Parts: sequence; C-alpha cells; structure tokens
Amino acid sequence: MPLSNRLVFFRPFAVALLAALALIPTRPAYAQTVPPQPAPGLSQPAPAQAAPAPSQQQAYTLAPDKLAKAIALSRIRNILAIVGGIWGIVFLWILLATRAWARVEAWAQRRTPRRWLQGALFFCAFFIFTTLASLPLDIYAEHASRSYGVSVQSWPSWFGDQGKALAIALVFGTLVLLLFNWIVRRWPRRYWFGLWLVTLPILVAVMFAEPVLIEPLFDKFQPLQQTDPGLVQQLEKVVARTGTDIPPSRMFLMKASVKTNGLNAYVSGIGATKRIVVWDTTAGRIPDDEVLFIFGHESGHYVLNHIPKMLAGTAFGLFFVYWGCAGLADWMVRRFGPAWGTNEVSSRTGFIVLLFVISIASFLLEPVSNGFSRYFEHQADIYGQEAIHGIVPNPQLTAVAAFDHLGEAWLEEPNPSPFIEFWLYNHPSVEHRANFAAHYNPWANGGHGEFFTH
Ligand SMILES: [Zn+2]
Repeated sequence: MPLSNRLVFFRPFAVALLAALALIPTRPAYAQTVPPQPAPGLSQPAPAQAAPAPSQQQAYTLAPDKLAKAIALSRIRNILAIVGGIWGIVFLWILLATRAWARVEAWAQRRTPRRWLQGALFFCAFFIFTTLASLPLDIYAEHASRSYGVSVQSWPSWFGDQGKALAIALVFGTLVLLLFNWIVRRWPRRYWFGLWLVTLPILVAVMFAEPVLIEPLFDKFQPLQQTDPGLVQQLEKVVARTGTDIPPSRMFLMKASVKTNGLNAYVSGIGATKRIVVWDTTAGRIPDDEVLFIFGHESGHYVLNHIPKMLAGTAFGLFFVYWGCAGLADWMVRRFGPAWGTNEVSSRTGFIVLLFVISIASFLLEPVSNGFSRYFEHQADIYGQEAIHGIVPNPQLTAVAAFDHLGEAWLEEPNPSPFIEFWLYNHPSVEHRANFAAHYNPWANGGHGEFFTH
C-alpha cells in the first residue's frame, strides 16, 4: 500500500477506498515500520535439532537496557495500533449519530448547484476531518518513537509529511470516492459489483505509480550504483544465482537516515516501475553479507510473484467483502438512516455509512491479511537464505545476524504476545525469523533448498 508505513492509524478511515484496500498490505517490505511483525503462536524457540546449528537457544536477544526499551515501546505501538483502528470506526459513527455528516452534505449543497462539486467539497471535508481525528494518535506514536531513539525525524519534516499525505488524499482520494459514490448512485442495487470491478485497476495503477509519483514526495532516492558500486557488484552475484532480471538501474538507495534509525528494504512498483529499494540505514551500516541476505529476501518477493498473488487474493476477498458490506450498509441506512439524516446509500451521508461498514470489515479482517502476509514473508526469508548459499560463507549465521540488527534497530520485542502477533504483525516476529534461520540448513547432508537445486 502506498504510505502504509507512514499512515498506520490513518488506515481504517482516511484513504477510504483504502479502508478496503488496507485489507492487503501490497508492499512486501523486509521489515515493516510501525507495528512490528510476528508469527502466530510459537513463541518458543524452534526445537533444537541434532544437526549442527549455530545456536541451540534463542537466536534473537537484546541487552537488558534495550530489552526494557523494546518492551515499553512495543506496548505503546500495539496499544496505538488497536486503539487507532477502533477510534477510526468510532469517529465515523459519532459524526453519523450527531448528524454532522448530514450537515456537511447540506453545507456542500448550499455552496454549489453542481453535483460533482458538492461531492468534491464533501469528500475533501471527509479527509480533513479524519486526518485531524487521527492526528493526536499519530503525534503520540511519533513522539514515542523519537524518545526511544528509533525516529530521528524533525517535527517540521514530520508535519510536512503529514501535510503531503493529506494533499494526496484530497486530490486522489477525493477522485476515487467521487467515482465510488457515482457508481452507488448509478447502480443502486448492484453497486458492490461495480465497486469491485473498478477497485482492482485502481490498485494496480496506484502500485504502478507509487515509486515514481508518490515515494519521491517523501524521500530521496539515488541509484545504488552511484552510492555503493562495490555493494552493487556483490548484489550482482545474487542476481545471477536467482536468475532475476534486476539490473543495477532498478536498485535504489533511499535516504532514510534523516528520519529513522530503523533498517529496511522493499520491493515496489510493478512492470516498468518495479524496483528494489534499500535504505541507507541498511546499506553501509550492517555488513554487506547481511545486505545480500536482505536483497535475497526481496528478490524472493519478485521471483515468487508475491505482488500478483496478493492482488489476486485481494480481488477474491474483496468480492465477498464488498457484497457483505453493501448488504449491511443498506440495512443500516434503512434502520438508522432517518436518525443520521439520510435515506439512501447513494447520498453523500449514506455513502459514509458504507465506508463505516467497510472500515469495520477492514479492522476485523486485518488478522486475515496479516496471516497471508506473514506466510509470504516467511517464504521470502527461506528464499533469501537459499539465494546467498555459496556466496556468503555461512548463510545461517548471516541471516541470524541480519535479524539481530533488524530487531535492535527497530527495538522489536523478543517475546510478543501471541494475540498481538496474530492480530497486528504482517511479518513473523524477529525472534521467530531468527530462530528459523538459525536452524535452516537444507544443504547439511548434500540436500538442497526449496527454491534452488544446489
Ligand atoms: Zn519481505
């Protein structure tokens, strides 16, 4: 998702389309930024095998001072993620119940006789209100991240980013909601099917445009070849082994160090805009071998077609989500519409009822999309470790060291609660990833991995 890392609490409301699309995290990053990311269940270390493993115990540990910070910061992140999700839904409801949306609709109608302009005013107001509603939580999250030394972004720069995100929502979000609202008006009975038909092309277009239109508004990118030619040479070895067609012109370095101490790398774009981005907090700060592993993980998302698969999964899931949400929204408008100042879903206020229902569905289905995401991330971890076999001396040690660096940089909690993992984490926990890596050695007895024949 565009901006999903930056706008975590924004999710259920703001980019309303995206309430729906938030169902699937479309950016397979190596590490997600805000809420950290574990696997369900299993917070025990993998059972020690007879095979020579580099570590027989917990592979991811933190020094006591860091551990205390990680636990405290994780608690704040988790609470904010859940409270933010619920608040987004409650906020929409309060404004419905107080007839505030109905008043905004009436105000827009007084301002102009043109329907589409009324809609534009109404949806701009929607994005401004929802942004303001989530701002206190966003500020608190950023404050916590700064005080624990993860974020190093200045407040003016941070507010600048929020302003840009709002501007994008005002332009593109308003256009999308105008289209959606028009579809509801045009086909009042079967609108959910129309919404479903247009959502996928919009998602694909957003993903295509994100690295070239959106990301450069927030961060600076340089060809990796320019900044780390030595590293590019090393990466070419992984490219050759994986057989991917990722030329150096598609490898970028993002200047993240002005904003965070966290490590990250991700794949973004599709087709002509597809690229691999490595943060400058990663390349140069941790050993090159570990960057190769991270790159191998990202290549795994490419090779294993994770983006098309997630799009297909989204399409499948949304078909039922839209159908169910439309039914529920129709019922709510009949039941509560008179009190909320609307009598049909196709009115502006009625459309908010639909967004309200979609927000609830999005919140409740988050564990489902996170479950799929964790599966893909685990596959990419395996792929990454296999991709550096024969290139680095010991893939197990390299992967474990990379996870240790990752966990320490983000202050990842070593033992998150299973419920939090299940609900919020879109990557397996660092603990789980490191433990798996420590024991993954398919070559031990002349065997080979899952994705490579040697
Ligand atoms: Zn990943």
